[in-house]
Amino acid sequence: MAEASPAKKLKQSVKGYLYNVSPLKDPQKSYFDATLQHGSECSKVVVFTPQEHAQFQNAEKNRSPVNLEDVILQPSKESYGKMNVFYTHSSTMSCICDLGDTFNNTLPAEHQEITLAELPKLVTKVQRVNIIAKIMQEEHKGNSVVWDGRYLPRTTYTVADTTAYISLTVWCEHNITIGEWYRITNVSMKQFKDKTSLTTTKDTRILNIPSQGAAVAVEVPTETIRCEIIGANVKNFFICLRKHNLSHITPSSPTVYCPSCKTHYKTSATTMKFSVHLDLKPETEGIIHACAEDEVIMPVITVKPNASRDEIIQSLMALPTMQVTICNNVIVKIEDASESHNPLNAEIKSDEVVCSLKLPTKVEPLEDSDSVFYSPPDLGLFSSSQQKKI
Ligand SMILES: [Zn+2]
Repeated sequence: MAEASPAKKLKQSVKGYLYNVSPLKDPQKSYFDATLQHGSECSKVVVFTPQEHAQFQNAEKNRSPVNLEDVILQPSKESYGKMNVFYTHSSTMSCICDLGDTFNNTLPAEHQEITLAELPKLVTKVQRVNIIAKIMQEEHKGNSVVWDGRYLPRTTYTVADTTAYISLTVWCEHNITIGEWYRITNVSMKQFKDKTSLTTTKDTRILNIPSQGAAVAVEVPTETIRCEIIGANVKNFFICLRKHNLSHITPSSPTVYCPSCKTHYKTSATTMKFSVHLDLKPETEGIIHACAEDEVIMPVITVKPNASRDEIIQSLMALPTMQVTICNNVIVKIEDASESHNPLNAEIKSDEVVCSLKLPTKVEPLEDSDSVFYSPPDLGLFSSSQQKKI
């Protein structure tokens, strides 16, 4: 009855893409693990051949599809219905070129640039490309949490070549000049609702190059509308001093542990960040859906640094008709439509229900009102040393 035994391990082969290749593990550095994306599934792979670590890392880095042969597949104990892949001393790994329809063979050759007009024709959902493009304009600036939990600055530009234009999100600070040409390698391409966009990756290099001629005309619609905020959803999160996302924070607990820093922090020493999705009702017609980050929103609402989601939502809903500038569904500017351009002049209506959160109606010295306001981390140092005086 040996063939019917459920314990019998079948040796099989699996094909796919490797992700998250870990460092060598345990004190003897005897194994490492990785994620294999095959079809629409992801499986954990445990590799017991540390001598092949570099090969696995290269396959991940080069985005080469791989064939893992003579591996052992076992149902995962952690996630029901999933299989774990065990790669043992008798298993072999080879890089392959064609995985059939799932991964259409459209990966451009390494070092080869692709024109922006060709991008949407590439079939796979996420892949890396190299481009040569001119930076046409800045769409918006902000910060976001990346896959490893760090909260990083990012800027979205419209870039163009002689064939088309596209949005490119650049993570971290880069020395980029509007109007200049760049060779940009290893950018990841995303397609969402028929819109193709590009994002830099940790392997991206941005190299300034001489002009490549006239780029196509760019028309990124930036519109400014007068509207009322009729719907809001707020996602808030906390970051540590080194800008790691603290996902499991309990605001009532006095301390919080950051696994990335391996440090316990006072909860009061963390910084709350948030992003919002708003439904805007213009004076004309229809509803516009747009998102924004706290940097854009904070100047117009009146909440404390550690306000709850509800308090932020209430404060947003209490806003009067606003003048909102939107670029690619992102709010880049918002101000009180009834007021002059300086949002600090915004009058606080005495009948607002924001209660404890609103500015004291008697604003006397600006020195202390500054300190109760939340400011983003980059500006934090700046504003503490440059208190505003009348
Ligand atoms: Zn941290």
